[in-house]
Amino acid sequence: METADYDIVIVGSGLAGMRAALQAANFSNRKLRIAMISKLHAMRSHSVSAEGGISGVLSPGEGGDSIELHAMDTIKGSDYLADQDAVEFLVNEAPKEIRLLDNMGVPWNRREDGGIVLRAFGGMSIPRTVFAGDKTGFFMLSTLYDALLEYQDVEIFHEYLVISLNITRGTFGGILAMNISTGEMKLFRGKAGIIATGGYARIYGFTTTAFSSTGDGIAMAYRAGVSLKDMEFVQFHPTALVPSGILITEAARGEGGYLLNSEGKRFMENYAKSKMELAPRDIVSRAIVTELDQGRGVVQETTGIEHVFLDLRHLGESVIDERLPMIKEITIKMNGIDPSKEMIPVRPAAHFTMGGIHMDIHGRALMNDYDPVMGLWVAGEAGCVSVHGANRLGSNSLSQCVIWGRVVGEAAAEHALGNGYGVTNEEIERWGALEASRVNNLMDGTGTENPYLIRKEMQQTLDKYVYVYRETDGFKNAKKAINDLKRRYANVYVQDKSREYNTNLRDTLELGNMLELADIVIECALARKESRGAHAMKEYPKRDDVNWLKHTIVRMGSDGPVLSYVPVTITKWQPMERKY
Ligand SMILES: Cc1cc2nc3c(=O)[nH]c(=O)nc-3n(C[C@H](O)[C@H](O)[C@H](O)COP(=O)(O)OP(=O)(O)OC[C@H]3O[C@@H](n4cnc5c(N)ncnc54)[C@H](O)[C@@H]3O)c2cc1C
Repeated sequence: METADYDIVIVGSGLAGMRAALQAANFSNRKLRIAMISKLHAMRSHSVSAEGGISGVLSPGEGGDSIELHAMDTIKGSDYLADQDAVEFLVNEAPKEIRLLDNMGVPWNRREDGGIVLRAFGGMSIPRTVFAGDKTGFFMLSTLYDALLEYQDVEIFHEYLVISLNITRGTFGGILAMNISTGEMKLFRGKAGIIATGGYARIYGFTTTAFSSTGDGIAMAYRAGVSLKDMEFVQFHPTALVPSGILITEAARGEGGYLLNSEGKRFMENYAKSKMELAPRDIVSRAIVTELDQGRGVVQETTGIEHVFLDLRHLGESVIDERLPMIKEITIKMNGIDPSKEMIPVRPAAHFTMGGIHMDIHGRALMNDYDPVMGLWVAGEAGCVSVHGANRLGSNSLSQCVIWGRVVGEAAAEHALGNGYGVTNEEIERWGALEASRVNNLMDGTGTENPYLIRKEMQQTLDKYVYVYRETDGFKNAKKAINDLKRRYANVYVQDKSREYNTNLRDTLELGNMLELADIVIECALARKESRGAHAMKEYPKRDDVNWLKHTIVRMGSDGPVLSYVPVTITKWQPMERKY
């Protein structure tokens, strides 16, 4: 097996990973050798599908907006679980990143006078979301990618599946990856490492996320001894297209779309009278599920799936064509529906994971409750910093990705310029051989369980028991089902024995990560006896700040997940009742 030495090893080439690579290269004056590794072609990273936009107050004072108001909206939206120092950092830094991307060439939508257009988003008091049509992620990612191609010191490894992460003596050592096109294993030793592998919403079946959002980096970090934070908080986006689950961006409601029940009524007036369709996502998702539960849903004839309608007809063809062209393309292609003439069937789907690798405001990965891993940083949806708390506001994630991408790129570069390798070549090679044998055993195994059936059952379990409304009995059923599936996974069979492009092996390895994370999500959710943001418990319908204003920390123990709690950082916004 080949071992390659790099100064910085970045796992993930979404917006967080690419922004980190760019910053590390610039900060070090291109003196460092940087590897950026992605299990997909870098440009197919999930960020490419971000639709609606990126938040930031570009001109404080204009239209009554302010940095302070952005912070307040984010904290209230988070149901007061966000760490307020991190939120303050986010809102202060977001405008700088948007301007930088503007200078780099991202084609933000513009007014006739050349100014950048802003759009309304859920839970934001005022329009402050910058966008490029409804393909914001595509334009941001391709701009960063084009820039990176100029950098000889950044080597991009497309289609390398990272399998394992080495931490020795509390210090990052490197990673083991498989070249998907050849099946060969390769060790990357690094002075510094960055995990930017995205979220874990694919543990659900009905989801807006890419097939690749399997939480690999989070599971790997957990196995290596890093703690995870707030894993029970999964965001359900109110408007996923039925039946495919493809996202119909919140921008559709930001542009003025209505949600209607089977009686043709804009039911949001019963749930969030002042914000209506632009209430935060947890509230809109609960409203939709309540409408369905109370018999005011519509059953789709072809699938039997219940849904409500998103109505864009009154926006007219020209607004849809200019501001929401991809939504029109999607609904026509997938459902044969032209949104300027017909209503769109939607219901909530798993969309974003607020939980992730425990990290501090500097992007350092943490073990136990607060111990930084030397030389290891986290950025993007893989980490929980936490700016989104119990419920993310739409368009805050892209800001988070690029801001902490920049922060960790710089910190990792500084570390690599001043330090040597944390592990010796012999150590990493010994470790790599052991980890590779785990994969070989899987390939040579004579198990009988089909990974795709296990995956399907796992996703059905989460869809059923860990959805918008949750209850203890449901969690217990889910836990039992996932434990059974984990037992079956120990006897899993990889049918394809070839080396090249073995997607069967890749899917099976990803499944192992997802089962681990599904178990953790349920365990953390079962423990939290309150309703906060996206975690809505039927038995505990109220938020409980006396007992639960705290982050869940989980680390791997010898008998499974071990939970502890750390306080939320409050700077100036005391928790209040959340009304919209
Ligand atoms: C449909 C959709 C639309 C969205 N629109 C918006 C929006 O408009 N505004 C907003 O703020 N947020 C939006 N979000 C959320 C936002 O897009 C994501 O949170 C963000 O793009 C995540 O970026 P990332 O860099 O953290 O990870 P990703 O973009 O998910 O990238 C992860 C990277 O890690 C790599 N990787 C993963 N595992 C491995 C492994 N084992 N080995 C090697 N590489 C690996 C992948 O190949 C990929 O390169 C949207 C989400 C969805 C689902």
